[in-house]
Amino acid sequence: MTTDNRQLTMRRGAEASRRFSFRLRCSACATEYDPDQLINLCRNCNAPLLVEYDLSPAPELREKIRSRPPTMWRYAEVLPADEGITLGEGITPLLRSTQFENVWIKDESKNPTRSFKSRGMAAAVTMAARNGAKSLAAPTAGNAGAALSAYGARAGLPVFVAMPRDTPKSIVDECRSYGAQVEMVAGLITDAGKRVQQYIASTGGFDLSTLKEPYRVEGKKIMGYELLEDLGRLPDVILYPTGGGTGLIGMWKAFDEMQRLGWIDKRRPRMWSVQSSGCAPIVRAFDSGLESAPEWEAAQTSAWGLRVPRAVGDRLMLRALRESRGGAIAVEESQIEPAAAELRTREGIDAGPEAGAALLALRRLIEKGAISSAETVVLFNTGGNKYHS
Ligand SMILES: [Zn+2]
Repeated sequence: MTTDNRQLTMRRGAEASRRFSFRLRCSACATEYDPDQLINLCRNCNAPLLVEYDLSPAPELREKIRSRPPTMWRYAEVLPADEGITLGEGITPLLRSTQFENVWIKDESKNPTRSFKSRGMAAAVTMAARNGAKSLAAPTAGNAGAALSAYGARAGLPVFVAMPRDTPKSIVDECRSYGAQVEMVAGLITDAGKRVQQYIASTGGFDLSTLKEPYRVEGKKIMGYELLEDLGRLPDVILYPTGGGTGLIGMWKAFDEMQRLGWIDKRRPRMWSVQSSGCAPIVRAFDSGLESAPEWEAAQTSAWGLRVPRAVGDRLMLRALRESRGGAIAVEESQIEPAAAELRTREGIDAGPEAGAALLALRRLIEKGAISSAETVVLFNTGGNKYHS
């Protein structure tokens, strides 16, 4: 047991009263699970498990949380742990656009390892370590691997990351720099996922793939809480570049929790999933009225975080998009990088290609009349400009 783990075990006993109690529940068949165990998907139906808290109205909590140190762990009451394995993730800036009225950019590049993935990994690695994981593994399209490598190092646990062979060298080097074992795999993230399954079968390591454990969503949902903290109310529209979709699912969950805490009413932002014309399984499923998203063949996009041809959380994502009365939009692949460059040169933001896709979506939706100029829009820069060959 590492020093961090020992400290966490002790804290858990000392501060157990601070959090709302919780259980794990299957997002499809509602089977309940004890959270004090290492667990992946539902054992009955293979759907993702989500954390369900026993929330009651707590208006006073909003101010109390704001007074705490600026990391996502200030939201301890609605996280699975009071304090976790942390590198200072969360509480990122919400920046007003210099180009558009009423448009704000949530700059997730300010997180450790320069992407929103650090939020999910902070929560997931914390819980995996507490529940006795001996090693950690995940496939990655890029940034998730870097985040897992850093948080695994912090937790004192070995990390195995599998990624497509053509993943930019900068990401491979970043994972290795944190001491992770990196394996390059022919094909896409889905193929890397199969390699991770083999690793787990042979070593007994724990699988932290997107939505295959319940806690990455918990870390990412705090983005939703932060929007309320930043704006004093929720925006009218959220434009979210979507690969695995955990951020979108997490924020949707956060809004529900905030309503039960008595912080907001039943109104919700319209959630838009943004994908590339080179890989748009969620857009295709949304437009076809499907409840799940079939695999996108021959996925290709330079926005590496969007290159997820088949998402485990497809049903949850599509449900959130529809319930929010938002939608899904694919933007032209060839225009993504120029749009990201525009964010960098005109806004001064460390914008990755995924944010370029969100900017293109903003323009298209304004042109189509799906967003009016009076509405408050938040566009996510999910990670920095860190893909280099
Ligand atoms: Zn189930």
